[in-house]
Amino acid sequence: MAGIVLDAIEKSFGETRVLRGVSLSFDQGAFVSLVGPSGCGKTTLLRIIAGLESADRGRVVIAGAEVTGRRAADRDVAMVFQNYALYPHMTVAQNMALPLVMRRLSALERAPFLGRLVTGTAERRAAIRREVEEAAKLLSIDHLMERRPGQLSGGQRQRVALGRAIVRHPKAFLMDEPLSNLDAALRHDMRRELVDLHRRVGVTTVYVTHDQAEAMTMSDRVAVMLGGAVLQFGSPREIYEQPATVDVAKFIGSPRINILPAETDAESRVVVAGFVTGEVAPRAAGRIQAGIRPEHLVPAADGLPLAVRHVEFLGAEVLVYGEHKATGTELIVRLDPAAWEATPSRHVLCVAPMPGRLLAFDAAGTRLG
Ligand code: ATP
Repeated sequence: MAGIVLDAIEKSFGETRVLRGVSLSFDQGAFVSLVGPSGCGKTTLLRIIAGLESADRGRVVIAGAEVTGRRAADRDVAMVFQNYALYPHMTVAQNMALPLVMRRLSALERAPFLGRLVTGTAERRAAIRREVEEAAKLLSIDHLMERRPGQLSGGQRQRVALGRAIVRHPKAFLMDEPLSNLDAALRHDMRRELVDLHRRVGVTTVYVTHDQAEAMTMSDRVAVMLGGAVLQFGSPREIYEQPATVDVAKFIGSPRINILPAETDAESRVVVAGFVTGEVAPRAAGRIQAGIRPEHLVPAADGLPLAVRHVEFLGAEVLVYGEHKATGTELIVRLDPAAWEATPSRHVLCVAPMPGRLLAFDAAGTRLG
């Protein structure tokens, strides 16, 4: 059974079409990222899954049940936001217990004797305490239970927000840039923690981010969005190695892929500014675009000459930025420091694509293959 199915979701705000018929199916228990540049519609899609926004057209199915018209509270999903949404006057334990207390409240909200029942029976209180303690242990925040959010670090607050989601045992976690308020080092650590947590709780997770590295390192599958449409949905490796379009290739990978104007000759070989690369396009297509990742360009005496503009030494690798004058493109080459040392000149670097690593796209940007 699929964890979440989105079927032909459309959404406009006024005249602006924000989602243009998005269909996706996420496996039960998978960690899926929605990634794309600002404004591509990923948050809107997440809010539609959550029931915080309604789609103009299309269906949402969560764990086998259609929830399209249901309120957020009746979808059994837990949202985790970047601003944590914790109550400052409550302790960590109270913040975490809140969804469980609220669940009891909503069932009883019309009862005239509300005030007395909200606190619940001793048995009920003990069950809530158990849930909260378990989640706190899972997140290593059990020593912070009596603190208030103002007395916590950003990372600790994020864990409390996660804890509040976990205690509900929802059918899905929906996360909107949950790490974006943390500094770079902590964000890196929290990535691993989130993946680890996901492995332990096994709940279908949809994760919205504009950070492609975050999406690539954390997810089982990644949906790359642009302009309200999904350009590609696949494993991180598929998306990196076999991008469906030039836009996907450009968005995924850092430093970004090199794109060069090229053409195919009579034998379908890819030719860049007179240089026959040795790569064969799947079909002769005339004018094409050649995509080559920075790590797939290697020094070659008879290769494409680049005028070296800038060199970055990063310890384990060297990034060489060079201008290929014949095509007027700037290329980035990622080299092993020893390979850079061994090149004959600091001013001109001649490079060729590694065999089998050139990606050919047609003039419209669709990959030939
Ligand atoms: P970001 O990473 O910047 O949050 P996003 O990919 O998550 O971007 P959305 O927040 O889904 O994008 O927004 C998509 C488009 O819809 C944007 O152009 C935004 O301005 C617009 N939009 C979102 N919510 C509303 C709203 N409530 N009313 C009008 N326009 C909206």
